[in-house]
Amino acid sequence: MTPPASVSTSQPARDPAPIARDLPPIDLHRHLDGNVRLTTILELARAYGIRLPADNVEELRPHAQIQDVVASVMDFIARFALLKLVCVAEDAVARIAEENVEDTAREGIDYIELRCSPACMGERYGLDPTRVLAAVCRGVKAGMARYPVQVQIIGIMSRHLGEESYWRELEAAIALMGEGVIGIDLAGDEANFPGTRFVRHFARARAAGLRITVYAGEAAGAWSVRQAIEELGAERIGHGARASEDPAVMRLIAERGITLEVCPTSNVQTQTVPDYARHPPPQLLRAGQRVTLNSDDPGISAIDLPHEYRVARNRLGLTTDELRTIQANALAAAFIDDVTRARLLAIAQKRAT
Ligand SMILES: [Zn+2]
Repeated sequence: MTPPASVSTSQPARDPAPIARDLPPIDLHRHLDGNVRLTTILELARAYGIRLPADNVEELRPHAQIQDVVASVMDFIARFALLKLVCVAEDAVARIAEENVEDTAREGIDYIELRCSPACMGERYGLDPTRVLAAVCRGVKAGMARYPVQVQIIGIMSRHLGEESYWRELEAAIALMGEGVIGIDLAGDEANFPGTRFVRHFARARAAGLRITVYAGEAAGAWSVRQAIEELGAERIGHGARASEDPAVMRLIAERGITLEVCPTSNVQTQTVPDYARHPPPQLLRAGQRVTLNSDDPGISAIDLPHEYRVARNRLGLTTDELRTIQANALAAAFIDDVTRARLLAIAQKRAT
């Protein structure tokens, strides 16, 4: 009997990604703790004596990755828990961060903003959030010394972890601003922990000089996107898939020049968007919104950034010009200064000639 066919999210390597060579490939929304190599999970588990559901890559893969296009949100979350099992010590965290930088460089990315919730990463083994985030900064620095990619870090406040944790994660991000942390995000259970709880936290973050991106408009509706912009000071919105439910919110996004960090495969896997054909980027772009394409959790989704560009062309139907606009949007919305922006552009243009 043959096993049921599954729809692979991966594309053949010979299908080149439609990424313009004269613009820098940029990923603004990637969780480094959602991007842990299977081999690293196995090695760390062995080193620290952690029991896993499998002891080789092929048997571990279905526990760590989503291999079909459609899975439930609970399936997605269960895979995160497995990756967190190996965030067992600061050295392990630093290794995961450094390998993220290496993987990014191998994808051909020039600039990336990696994000993580240090309290969430350290939760299982009681690691201190500031020390976890410091280990991330250490790993990223080590990676940047070895690979030609520029990386900045975004701290996350995990919505479900509670008030004390919010402040600890925020203060960790502020304390490490000189070590590569550039911004703060809000992630997790949007439906039960709305942005209205976080007005004071984001006021503190803005006063300290952190840049603001907020995950909103996925589990909750367009109102959550409005609240993130008007009350939290969001410059970018993570996902924001449901913003298009309210034309007034769409107008607000356009007027304020807010950038949307769209993650196509992740949204389909969590069923936020029922299928690629109904994914909003084409209508958003054609309405003049600043859309970017991002990978979210490549280790869980079994994808990379080039994959998402192929999806955007092959399944969302975006044109070459629209994909160019997306790349330019990412450069414009990156949390970098204009000198760095110009340098990234110059590197890409030189490479293209
Ligand atoms: Zn995300």
